[in-house]
Amino acid sequence: MEDSVARAGLPLGGARRRLAEELRRKGINDSAVLAAIEATPRHFFVPSGVAHRAYEDSPIPIGSGQTISQPFVHARSLELLRLSESDRVLEVGTGSGYQTALLARLARHVYSIERVPALHEGAAAALRSLGVGNVTLECSDGTAGWPEHAPFDAIVVSAGAPDIPAPLVEQMAAGGRMVVPVGARGEQTIALLERTGNRIVRRDFDAVRFVPLIGEHGWAQ
Ligand code: SAM
Repeated sequence: MEDSVARAGLPLGGARRRLAEELRRKGINDSAVLAAIEATPRHFFVPSGVAHRAYEDSPIPIGSGQTISQPFVHARSLELLRLSESDRVLEVGTGSGYQTALLARLARHVYSIERVPALHEGAAAALRSLGVGNVTLECSDGTAGWPEHAPFDAIVVSAGAPDIPAPLVEQMAAGGRMVVPVGARGEQTIALLERTGNRIVRRDFDAVRFVPLIGEHGWAQ
């Protein structure tokens, strides 16, 4: 990805640096996460009409009634996952593909599922244009996970779930971590689950407001 970004000229480097500095001031400490944010052009992943807002720390509509999440929320989720270069990651809710690109910098391979075909196709095109190779995308219901590629060292759910989807827990590797926003439709808490042997330990973090996770193990609609 680095080479093709360099070939693309990667404008707005100052804006990305300022965004990473803002996130550090707001409490993000993981330097690998901040470096990924500084290196990844968020303006590639938002509609051209709102590209001037790409480096604000705010969510932005991406079409189909969905949003690219606030950078702080992406950074917090990635920090909680404590990713390493050897990790295989499942992402549920590809959306624009921006977080997929961040994950691809921090882990070995990313499997990402999006239920809305137009978003799946847009994300695939954006990731291709940046030369991101270590991702596999699918358009389906991600609440069932991706059993063919399980188990995963890390799972990140990018939409708000009424409960933690059981298939995703089953697909966590030994020592695996999962970040999932859980709660009501209008407000959730970021839950971090960690598998140690047969035990799953849950800790809750920030209050957030995600679009709903719609599917067999999520909201009905
Ligand atoms: N992290 C994404 C980004 O960087 O643009 C933003 C994700 S957006 C907040 C949530 C996404 O989850 C939406 O694109 C939505 O269509 C998707 N989604 C909701 N339910 C889903 C499901 N069951 N399986 C896959 N994707 C789902």
